[in-house]
Amino acid sequence: MKRNATLPKHGIAPGRLLRAMHAAKSGDAKWKSGHTWSLVYHLSEDHTEHLIDVYRLFFAENALSPTAFPSLKKFESDVVRIMARLVGGGERAAGTMTSGGTESILLGVKTHRDWFRSRHPKARRCKLIVPATAHPAFFKAAAYFDMEPVTIQTGPDFRLDSAEVAKAIDKNTAMLVGSAPSYPYGIVDPIRELGAIAQRHDIGLHVDACLGGAFLPFMRKLGHPIPEFDFSVPGVSSMSVDLHKYGFSCKGTSVVLYRDSALRRHQFFVKPDWLGGAYASAAMLGTRSGGGIASAWAALMMLGENGYMDLVRRTLSYRDRLWKGIRAIDGLELVGEPDMSVFCFRSTKHDIFSIGAKLEKRGWRIDRQNNPPAIHMIVTPNHRLAVSAFLRDLKNIVATEPLSKGKAPAAVGLYGVTSSQTSGANPVESLYRGLESNYE
Ligand SMILES: *Cc1c(COP(=O)(O)O)cnc(C)c1O
Repeated sequence: MKRNATLPKHGIAPGRLLRAMHAAKSGDAKWKSGHTWSLVYHLSEDHTEHLIDVYRLFFAENALSPTAFPSLKKFESDVVRIMARLVGGGERAAGTMTSGGTESILLGVKTHRDWFRSRHPKARRCKLIVPATAHPAFFKAAAYFDMEPVTIQTGPDFRLDSAEVAKAIDKNTAMLVGSAPSYPYGIVDPIRELGAIAQRHDIGLHVDACLGGAFLPFMRKLGHPIPEFDFSVPGVSSMSVDLHKYGFSCKGTSVVLYRDSALRRHQFFVKPDWLGGAYASAAMLGTRSGGGIASAWAALMMLGENGYMDLVRRTLSYRDRLWKGIRAIDGLELVGEPDMSVFCFRSTKHDIFSIGAKLEKRGWRIDRQNNPPAIHMIVTPNHRLAVSAFLRDLKNIVATEPLSKGKAPAAVGLYGVTSSQTSGANPVESLYRGLESNYE
């Protein structure tokens, strides 16, 4: 194991240090040029500079104590209210800001568990029913909060079949899950049908709109037909919406929202008799960055409805060019019918991962997924200059790619570890090893 990091005896001058840290970035993903199709949601240099100014202003402030920092309390409650209204929340809607989609989902699940327990004190371990396409954070929540996840496979059109969900419900089921849209295929689950099932069984329905919550409402305002996905659907009890994706805030910002503040009550934690004073905490974290909360508020204020509509319109125009270009290449096709700016494509003639590897040789950072083997893409306003170059490279590569002889594609790496770390006979063990090796 390499263990060469040591605390320097004497501090390093900031100028020298900054140069070294710039150099350290040389191997990082090149997102500014649009060569990356995930992880970074960049709007413009100007927007980022303004967010940094705001972050600087609230760099030291701590939202652990809203009474010490009434400014942050106002920003957070404004952000929650604005986002709730955007996704169809009424007067009783409520929520909190969180550190990201994962925390929003963890809290949505924990809240439903505690609501279920309050009504069924004798029930055993409760269940959540999760589409296979839902984000891993739901499975993480089940593992953290001792619940049983029941996975529902999607149909041949990669859309969730709500009849399969209904069949899986039993007396220990606390909640259903839908995505708007799902990360792998960019497809919105049948939320109205799920809502009706949830109401019939008097259980919760969490809609994960981490990707779509700050995108689909503006698509609708632009006149695009979008599937019903939010609190306007009866039965939807909670939602997660990321601000650090299409909200174009800084990293570490998201909201978890509830149809009714009475449900949110089950999210809170209080310890009135703590020796350090009465303690009350709304979400998972203790200390919370004032910079993140202030940046999320500032992003909403700087862009406004027209700003978001404009960036959604531009993003969709780049997506449309990508779709047209991909469909024009022999053997390539989109997987299913994606609902917004997130999608994947596959090849009926070639090994798609070999195409991915060649794209990477040309400087693109490619996300791969299985079932079916495909290349995954998230389009943002920052891809303006990348679309033509990407399509040109893709076309050239496919033209020279030998036809696939049906061989199994190579193992895919996803988040947290690299693809070389995921290969091996025992995938669970190799993922644990991969995580460990990240800290060597
Ligand atoms: C990104 C994402 C999440 C998780 O969010 P993090 O911010 O990465 O924790 C959950 N669901 C969907 C659909 C996402 O795209």
